[in-house]
Amino acid sequence: MASITDKIRSERLAAEKGTIRKRWQDRVRVALVYPNRYNVAMANLGFQTVYSQLNAMDHVVCERAFLPESEEGDRPVVSLESGRRLTEFDCVAFSLSFENDYPHVLTLLQKAALPPQSALRGTSLPLMLAGGVAVFLNPEPLADFFDCLLLGEAEALLIPFFERFDPQRDRQTQLLEMAQQVPGVYVPAFYQAQYDSDGTLSAFVPVQDVPPKVRRVYAPDIKTAITQSTIVTPDTGFDDAFLIEVSRGCPHGCRFCAAGYIYRPPRTRPLDLLRKAMATGAGLTCKIGLMGAAVSDLPDLKALCAEGRSRDLQLSFSSLRADAIDDDLIAALKSGRLKTATIAPETGSVRMRRVINKGLEEEDILSAAEKLVAGGIPNLKLYFMVGLPTEEDEDIQQIIALVKKIKHSFLSSSRARGRMGAITVSLNSFVPKPFTPFQWCAMDEVSVLKHKIKKVKSGLGKVSNVRVHADVPRWAYIQALLARGDRRVGQLLLQAHENQGNWPQTFKSSAVNPHFYIHRTRTRDELLPWDFIDHGIDKDFLWKEYERAMQGKATKPCPMDPGKCSVCGVCE
Ligand code: SF4
Repeated sequence: MASITDKIRSERLAAEKGTIRKRWQDRVRVALVYPNRYNVAMANLGFQTVYSQLNAMDHVVCERAFLPESEEGDRPVVSLESGRRLTEFDCVAFSLSFENDYPHVLTLLQKAALPPQSALRGTSLPLMLAGGVAVFLNPEPLADFFDCLLLGEAEALLIPFFERFDPQRDRQTQLLEMAQQVPGVYVPAFYQAQYDSDGTLSAFVPVQDVPPKVRRVYAPDIKTAITQSTIVTPDTGFDDAFLIEVSRGCPHGCRFCAAGYIYRPPRTRPLDLLRKAMATGAGLTCKIGLMGAAVSDLPDLKALCAEGRSRDLQLSFSSLRADAIDDDLIAALKSGRLKTATIAPETGSVRMRRVINKGLEEEDILSAAEKLVAGGIPNLKLYFMVGLPTEEDEDIQQIIALVKKIKHSFLSSSRARGRMGAITVSLNSFVPKPFTPFQWCAMDEVSVLKHKIKKVKSGLGKVSNVRVHADVPRWAYIQALLARGDRRVGQLLLQAHENQGNWPQTFKSSAVNPHFYIHRTRTRDELLPWDFIDHGIDKDFLWKEYERAMQGKATKPCPMDPGKCSVCGVCE
């Protein structure tokens, strides 16, 4: 009798219009694995893109696999399309977007009967590969588990890699050739990390004839090819929406945001290409999601929204800046039957917004709240962070004060419409990320973060129609460890896996001290675990940005003018 999981699988496959089924024989067989549940994975446009790009290659057949649902118990991990075990593939490729998914990688390998460390696997088992934004930010905590990591954007990496990958040839020889010849290919076993007596990295050196630095690669031209959903499924957080990536990267240079740096230079897609994608989406669903780190910076956004309205489509946006909210955008938001709009002030005080280079004035935030409610979107969600560098008690008080001011603007608009909505405040703990100006900063202690969250919650506790949700600082702590760690953090990851995810027990029994990675301020000249990746960004530029942050000085956005600008170094 078919299990519940089998039924779900076959229903999903039936629902996934355009699922690619190819012949298995004579092809390079790739299992594309997302270390989370199906619904999380299928809401990830990057994952869908890699799936379709791999299957677009004639000599490759790609099937998907996910973290098993809880009802699957100890059943082995199998691919969604043909139900094959991961050991039957030539290559198992992980798509990694979030550090907190790393523990799931080891769970998946165990359920697939694959030894976790690459040194123990041997070449008769599939090649273990990983890519994704978390990987090209800092792959070092994963170095022991993967044979090869791809650093950069998939469009620029998949074809060069899989055109050369031949499962019949000697694996080490092939990896060496690719590490030498294909930018973005990083083979951890070809490098050695050396440490000083104080625990800092003293050197990171090749042990084979490979480049000392690995270049991150990006797709220089996204104007001619679109990134869009290949599978529309109701079983995701986007609920049947057809997703279109309208832009990549963000010009604003918020100093906490890794996407604003590692996706440089920011790129946008032209209107005619986006219109075509919208027409394709309209043939499949009435819901279109416009994706990008800075959707409101798209020069043709108004025309694209008008196109959506003329087709009677419901539009949604992955991000909108408060200073871009105007009547046209509100009309587009309403077309998506949106009940809750999101604004991200990030912090309460003017001073802190300069420190993080948010580039938003208080009037922009208040005016956006007022316009959204007046325009008929009844609820607001406000994103704030706690634990930012230089943050003081007064800055936390200013979060409370700003929410109260927003509530005031919100009330006047709500009254005028005769309907009272709700404000949800989302508080997130700041995690300093690699390749940002805050990469040298220490993260706040968990107790300090909890104290700050408590303050905001009690300051807003009695304010009617305002709810406060906060993340769990302990998970932000783990995220910081995995985002900022070197190869030794891989040992912690393995021990935590052996301890069934019990991190406190792992920390107690391990010789690796997590505080060293999380709560230590780095000096300017310290060799950082991710310094071997050449993102094109000058480390001196990031340091200057760090200094400007400490001085509370704002920096102008990236001019998006690759031919003439050399400010951060990426376009040189
Ligand atoms: S070099 Fe200039 S245009 Fe290029 S990404 Fe940097 S700031 Fe932007």
